[in-house]
Amino acid sequence: MVAQIIDGKAVARGLRAQYCERSERLARRGVTPGLAVIIVGANPASRIYVQNKLRACAEVGIASFKIELAETASSDEVIAAILELNSRPDVHGILVQLPLPAHIPIGPVLRSISVDKDVDGFHLYNVGGLVVGDTVFPPCTPFGVVKLLEHEGISVEGKNVVVVGASNIVGKPMALMLTQRDATVCICHAKTRDLAQFTILADILVVAAGKPNLIVPQMVKTGAVVIDVGINRLPSGKLVGDVDFDGVRQKASYITPVPGGVGPMTVTMLLNNALLSAERNTTS
Ligand code: NAP
Repeated sequence: MVAQIIDGKAVARGLRAQYCERSERLARRGVTPGLAVIIVGANPASRIYVQNKLRACAEVGIASFKIELAETASSDEVIAAILELNSRPDVHGILVQLPLPAHIPIGPVLRSISVDKDVDGFHLYNVGGLVVGDTVFPPCTPFGVVKLLEHEGISVEGKNVVVVGASNIVGKPMALMLTQRDATVCICHAKTRDLAQFTILADILVVAAGKPNLIVPQMVKTGAVVIDVGINRLPSGKLVGDVDFDGVRQKASYITPVPGGVGPMTVTMLLNNALLSAERNTTS
């Protein structure tokens, strides 16, 4: 068996074309959707991510506002910037680019974002909403994975799903979103003993650990759907996921590449959430 490659770039492109139409509809009602991005400090990777998000906004007609704060900014200063954005009617979505400098506790910052503008879905209220299947905004990366599965017509109901990685922004929300869709979900993490005994049972394997080559063919059930969320830069400069793509491709039924799989969907879901926020705030 050779897996079908899930082309996240193409799926994202199709969705973004629809998003252009959504922002045109808003424009006809006199509304320009707006997304504010706060970046604290000069982390080079964060700067590239922010640049990509702003460019994607421009492509679909979302106005973007970049708020840059110094590496030395205090937690109070970051929160003050958020509170100002909370009150601005031209800003429908707010995101704080992570990671923050180590001296700024993340919890109070994320909780100061208005729940109605929390387009990353990281506010405690949104996280809690995942448990009961009622988020204001679903978190972008796991939401992107769900959209990819839907696009390929892959049902999760009743399937054995194994999520490798238990972070607050990817693994845990991913597991909750698939549980909500009636999958039987197992979450693995760095302290899981004998990872392979879990992964081999997966009909759908979602990997978000940040470890190149963590998943090799003998850990994968024949015919499994393999979603690789990981993004790792090798010393050679090459970008790879967490899955041995060439090996696992010979065994899986579907597989996402890195780059070009989940990555393009994450930013696309952010655009979706920003548009959704503007649509909710627009009376007919
Ligand atoms: P993270 O916060 O570092 O979490 C990594 C998770 O993987 C942790 O739960 C960790 O377990 C687990 N883990 C680490 N090594 C493991 C191992 N050997 N076996 C099993 N589990 C292991 O990372 P993250 O923010 O969730 O991101 C994960 C990966 O996805 C990274 O490569 C990141 O770049 C990528 N990512 C991609 C996108 C995208 O758009 N494609 C978006 C976000 C993140 P413990 O909890 O026990 O430490």
